[in-house]
Amino acid sequence: MEQTLVIFKPSSVQRGLVGEVLARFERKGLVIAGMKMMQLDEAILREHYAHLTDRPFFPILVESMTATPVIVMCLRGVQAISVVRSLTGATNGRQAAPGTIRGDFSMSNQENIVHASASAEDAEVELRRFFKPGEIFDYDLVGMRFINEPSELEL
Ligand code: UDP
Ligand code: MG
Repeated sequence: MEQTLVIFKPSSVQRGLVGEVLARFERKGLVIAGMKMMQLDEAILREHYAHLTDRPFFPILVESMTATPVIVMCLRGVQAISVVRSLTGATNGRQAAPGTIRGDFSMSNQENIVHASASAEDAEVELRRFFKPGEIFDYDLVGMRFINEPSELEL
């Protein structure tokens, strides 16, 4: 099963959307494998958003992501990386499809509620960036049999 990183950005913490957004991931059938609050700083954001450090909006991105603590989460499930990305929606909330988290809760390209890992390679590196060994837990939900048909667990 895959594991992916979600960050509840300051826009979700400040707007009181953490519970509602987390409920969507839970109802989908994803397992919360790790979860903690932390204050990000420029150094970790330079790593996390290395593909964006040269862009003119990078200082704004740092300011936005350090405005308040964030909640980092590891979600686990069959094909969890692509499932979480599609629940999250397109980067710009104004263009994200209705029904997605950004489409339903964001009007912004920057203040777009959550981060979600984009690929298996990113998920592995990002989870290591934000979680120490022992902070991600391996356990099953008792209702697992009714989240996935057992043969799907091999996917
Ligand atoms: N971002 C921004 N302006 C842009 C593009 C991106 O502020 O024009 C911010 C936004 O918060 C986005 C983050 O940079 O979520 C990472 O950008 P990426 O292209 O990786 O989008 P994502 O993977 O979050 O959809
Ligand atoms: Mg990205």
